[in-house]
Amino acid sequence: MMVDLMLRIFSPREWYNCVFGLVFFNLAVIFVGAAIKYALRGELGEPWFNHIVLATTISTPFAILVQMLMARLLEVQEELLTLASTDTLTGLANRRAFFERMEDPRQGVAMMLDIDHFKRINDTYGHDVGDMVLQRVAELLKDRIRGEDIVARLGGEEFAVYLNHAPLHKARQIGERLCEGVVFDVGKGKPGITVTMSAGAVASDGKRPLAELLRIADGALYQAKKAGRARLVFSRIPSLAKARAMSLGMSQA
Ligand code: GH3
Ligand code: MG
Ligand code: MG
Repeated sequence: MMVDLMLRIFSPREWYNCVFGLVFFNLAVIFVGAAIKYALRGELGEPWFNHIVLATTISTPFAILVQMLMARLLEVQEELLTLASTDTLTGLANRRAFFERMEDPRQGVAMMLDIDHFKRINDTYGHDVGDMVLQRVAELLKDRIRGEDIVARLGGEEFAVYLNHAPLHKARQIGERLCEGVVFDVGKGKPGITVTMSAGAVASDGKRPLAELLRIADGALYQAKKAGRARLVFSRIPSLAKARAMSLGMSQA
């Protein structure tokens, strides 16, 4: 791309890039100016008109160049921002983006999910199939949560979901369905693999920071693994009573 080539040539990375840029642009202005002056000499009459034609002809290409470079820089900045907040394998938000989007505590249910016996899938079918399973699970998570919820891959085979303002019974229903997992087709006439997940969840009263909620949800996830996997365990914290009341539609002072 032309603009990228220009950026590479003129970006002031070293002192000699700056000097080269200055010399190049000054020479360009001198030559373009001289050529226009020569072409206009006497013919357009009024000096003020000559002056405007001269200034516009020289400045317009530079203005266009600067705008093109700025537009490209903006594009690159947006690409970098997306890259920095996206998990490249699954396209989900990454840990950083999850924490950023959850900066303001809010009512809802935080859930940590971990694929069961994932190492076994890698060992049996290979890392590529493992990667495809991760992508499939990411799709499943996106499909089964609601538009206002947030889902992220925290790392490895571990995911987090935040169900915004979800009543407890609804969160439980969503979580349990997610744990049922998916049947993943490995192709080549082989039987599909049933991939399940274990999940730990905690209801938030909108006051606790995300890191604390995830710590509690992680403890519940550990309980789910210990209890036999492919299940959801809700952690009991003091705010749970309030969240349960919320789910029943009762108002609390
Ligand atoms: P558990 O049911 O207790 O969670 O067991 P597990 O096998 O799922 O958990 P374990 O922590 O023993 O293994 C997780 C495996 O996930 C090990 C690691 O190689 C694999 N893994 C982590 N990230 C990736 C990835 O991006 N792609 C693939 N294919 N595998 C990954
Ligand atoms: Mg794990
Ligand atoms: Mg696992």
